[in-house]
Formats: sequence, C-alpha cells, structure tokens
Amino acid sequence: MKNFDRKELINSIAETKEWDVLIIGGGATGLGIAVDSASRGFKTLLVEQDDFAKGTSSRSTKLVHGGVRYLAQGNISLVKEALKERGLLLKNAPHLTKNESIIIPCFSWPSGLFYGAGLLFYDWLSGRKSLGKSRLISKKELNKRLPTLKKESLKCGVLYHDGTFDDARLALNLAQTCVENGGAAINYCKVVSLIKSADHKISGANILDKETGNIHEINAKVIVNATGVFVDDIIKMDNAGSKPLIRPSQGIHLVLDSSFLKSTDSIMIPHTDDGRVLFAIPWYDKVIIGTTDTPLNNHSLEPRALESEIDFVLKTAGKYLSKKPEKRDVLSVFAGLRPLAATDDSNERTKEISRSHKVIISDSGLVSVIGGKWTTYRKMAEDTLSKIMRRKMLQNKKCITQDLKIHGYTHENLAGALAFYGADKIKLDELIATSKSLAEPLNKETNIVAAQVLWAVRNEMARTVEDFLARRTRLLFMDAGLACRLAPKVAEIMMKELNRDEIWKESQVKTFCELAQGYVLKSNLNHFGSKYREKGSITP
Ligand SMILES: Cc1cc2nc3c(=O)[nH]c(=O)nc-3n(C[C@H](O)[C@H](O)[C@H](O)COP(=O)(O)OP(=O)(O)OC[C@H]3O[C@@H](n4cnc5c(N)ncnc54)[C@H](O)[C@@H]3O)c2cc1C
Repeated sequence: MKNFDRKELINSIAETKEWDVLIIGGGATGLGIAVDSASRGFKTLLVEQDDFAKGTSSRSTKLVHGGVRYLAQGNISLVKEALKERGLLLKNAPHLTKNESIIIPCFSWPSGLFYGAGLLFYDWLSGRKSLGKSRLISKKELNKRLPTLKKESLKCGVLYHDGTFDDARLALNLAQTCVENGGAAINYCKVVSLIKSADHKISGANILDKETGNIHEINAKVIVNATGVFVDDIIKMDNAGSKPLIRPSQGIHLVLDSSFLKSTDSIMIPHTDDGRVLFAIPWYDKVIIGTTDTPLNNHSLEPRALESEIDFVLKTAGKYLSKKPEKRDVLSVFAGLRPLAATDDSNERTKEISRSHKVIISDSGLVSVIGGKWTTYRKMAEDTLSKIMRRKMLQNKKCITQDLKIHGYTHENLAGALAFYGADKIKLDELIATSKSLAEPLNKETNIVAAQVLWAVRNEMARTVEDFLARRTRLLFMDAGLACRLAPKVAEIMMKELNRDEIWKESQVKTFCELAQGYVLKSNLNHFGSKYREKGSITP
C-alpha cells in the first residue's frame, strides 16, 4: 500500500502505464468516485488542481441531510435517497459527523402542525436510518433550548434531526481512503488538456504538476470529469463547440461567535423573504448562518459574497435572534458555488432546479458528473461507476462503499479539540507528547497546537499555509482575522518541515493574509489590518 505522500504518489504516475480510471477534481464528487473505483479494485488516479475540497466542497452548510426543502417541493425519491446516504455517512465516518437537533420556530399553531406532520413523514422516509423522532415542542421548551430566539409572537416549535459534518476534513479522509484502497489522489495537479486516440476516443490527459512545473502524460481507460462548476471547461477540452451544461449559483454563510445562539440545537427558518431556507448551525465553537442562492454568470475557486447577500443574511437572522448580529460581529464570510444544471429559461430561479445528479458520457467517452450534493456523494459515485460498467468501458466489479469505513473511523466517542482526527488522534497525541514545544498552542487565542501543523504536512498532504488553516483545520472559515495572525507561525513550521526557504515563508504569509481579507467584511477590514500589523506581520 502506498503512503498518503505526494512525492510517492507522483512517482506512481510515472510507474503506471495505464490507469483504469482517471478522475479530474478533488471535491466531494471526484473523491467519492475515487474511493468507489479504488475499492472495487480498479487502478485509480485522482488529480486536483488546487487542494482537496478547495472548491465548493469546503463551503457547504455542513448538513448531512435528506433536504426538508425538497420534501416541500414533493421530490420524495431524492429525499429518500439522501436520507439513506445520511445514515451511511454517519455510520462510516462517525468521527466527522454528528446527529443534530434542528428546531423550526413557529408563529402559529397551524404552521407548527404543518411542519410537524411533514417532518414525521421525513422520519418515516428515513426508516431504520432515522436519527430521532420529530416532535412539536412547547414555547417553554423552545425558550429553554434556544435562549437567544426572539420570544414575541412565538407559539411553538418543531424539533427534528439531521446530521452535521466537517466537509473539508471528510474530503481529506476520502482522499486517504482512496489511497488505502490502492488508488492515488494528488493535490496541486491540473489537467491542462485531454489526449485522444486515432478513433477520436479520449485515452488520457496531460497533467501539470503545479509544484514542479512538470507535465505528466497519463493514459487511462476512463476519464471522469468531476470538476463541479468547472465541468464545462473540461467538456470544452473534449469538444470546443459544446453548450454549457451548468450555471453557478452562489450561496454564502456568515460565521458568528457562539453567544448569538448559546445552544447546541440548530435553527431552521423554512421560508425567508426570498423563499429560501436559512439555517443557524452551531459548528465547532462558532455559529454558521446561511445560505443564499444567487445566480452568477462566472465561476472561480474563490467566489466572494455580495454585499446584498451579506445584508440579507444579517437582516433575516436579526428578525429571529434577540442578539441581533451586525456587520462588526462577523468573524468570517465564505461563499460557495452550486453546480446546477443550466437552463435556457432565464426566469427559472436556480433554487427550483433539481439537486439530483446527472452522469453524461460524450461520444468520445468523457464521463461528466454534474449536480448532486455532499450528502449523496457515495451514491453519485456508485451510479457513475455503474453507468461506466453498463457501457462496457470497464469490466464489472462490485461496489463495496456502503460498508466501507472512511479513514479516521473509530467507534470511540471522542471529545475535545482533536476529536475530528478520529482514529488518527492516538498517533497525533503521541507526536504531541514528544516535545513541549509541539504541545504548545500557536498563540494565546487558539487551541491549535504546533504538532497539528507537522502532522498535516507529514500525513495529510498539506502543502501551503492555506491548506492547513483553511482545510486541515477550519480556522479561515471560522475566524479569518485570527487565521491571518497565526499564518507566520504556521509558515515557519511548514518551511522547516517541507525544506523550503525564508522567501517561501514570507510569500506564504503574504498570499494567505491577502486571501484571508476576502473572508472579512469590507467594513471590518480596517480592524483586521491593524491587528495584522500589530503582530509584526506584513502590511496588507
Ligand atoms: C452554499 C452551499 C451550501 C451547500 N450545503 C450543502 C449541505 O449542507 N449539505 C450537502 O449535502 N450539500 C451541500 N451543498 C452541495 C455540495 O457542497 C456540493 O454539491 C459539492 O460540494 C460539489 O462537489 P464537487 O466535487 O462536484 O465540486 P467541487 O467541490 O467544486 O470540486 C471540483 C474540484 O475540481 C477541481 N478542478 C477544476 N478543474 C480542474 C482541472 N482542470 N484539473 C484538476 N482539478 C480541477 C476544482 O479545483 C475543485 O476542487 C452546498 C453547496 C453550496 C454552494
């Protein structure tokens, strides 16, 4: 078995004459397919142009859910499928998932009965994979469970269960699971062109190693395009004249201090002024509030929240919370792009477009996967491989992912700041115990310790300061200013471990802090800048 080591895995590229499956894109979709393919016994390579989950897959609402909203739209089969997958994910990755109680505040008894009945149906659809029974709760219980909810006009609440998870950590653990099952998953490798054989069938791809600048020619029987909102860019490499398949729709989240919720329960507002659902979810030691749905005409790896979206989320949250959040309270803001099916009807609102996934195979054999959601990543992967096998592009092999434990799996109920490492926590604790300096927090404001940086470089393919602060830990998403203040220390440790020089270190800090500014509201930037300078870092 290969180690989860970038250099070793890059070398395996040169050693392998032909792969069975090459997957482009290291988000939920691609990583799910990589795990499915490798665990079926196919020679599998996944390449990601940036870091695993750099795209949409680190920017979700963090729900493992059937989708109460799709139930309201009457999309029963989608909800049933997602509820089954919810159960499988909580079973196979317990270290990253959590059974979450979510409360809908109701301002009239009829609305309480309406949501209560709908959620009983939701429970029934989940069958034996139910996470707990939905029930009506009294105003008194509501006040106790959600002390910061505005009390006026409230009549009752409906409590139901779904899951929450750490999306970027799950992506990383899936990449590790792929490698443990004999596959290869490599970050910072970009597909720059496709290779076709004389019969115009796709037979491989040219891949740029962004660290060395080397181009690797990869031969593969099947190429899967799992690039989310970038899916059309790859399709154009196959057929320059193709019509766009997807249209991005942006959703944003604001992150606040936990004092705005003071609860372990989440709040769900089923119908905001724009007709969407808004969640307030306790996540680690913060509260995440979102999301919006804004159609866009362009896509990027670093989408930015629009002022109108920020105002909308703050205004809606302020209607429900007694401690009204203001712009100055926002610790971080992040935006993600939904890869939704493109439609010719410009009036159709993106939220109405189905979240179910599609697997499309072009005449030249390019397999593109579009749509879907994190919760159903496993089923999307199974469907993709099944379709590939039905087309006889690969021989038949059985899918085993329903019972496949994801890297980090442990039955122990871990608690504390390092619980998300799951089974790896024991080895991380051993590393921490080797030296006092490794056990020390990076500064007084955080409980992230130096050993975690070393661990991320040695065992989790962290290559940049951003990889560590945004996705190996989630600090950039939780408190962008603090993340920036930790950057110099993280860069120092990484520089030594990766054998880089001072110039690398300085440029890492500069690049990261410039990025972090994009996670800070414009009105808070002065404050961010002054703190940043105070700590002797570079000037933004
Ligand atoms: C705001 C928001 C909230 C959401 N909340 C939830 C939720 O709570 N629960 C849920 O189940 N789902 C949720 N979703 C949906 C879910 O997050 C997405 O369906 C999922 O993350 C999409 O994953 P993906 O792999 O298709 O795309 P991505 O995560 O974007 O991955 C595609 C990857 O392809 C890479 N790539 C692109 N071009 C190349 C190339 N040439 N070479 C190599 N790599 C390349 C990109 O760098 C990127 O990392 C949410 C989505 C949004 C936008």
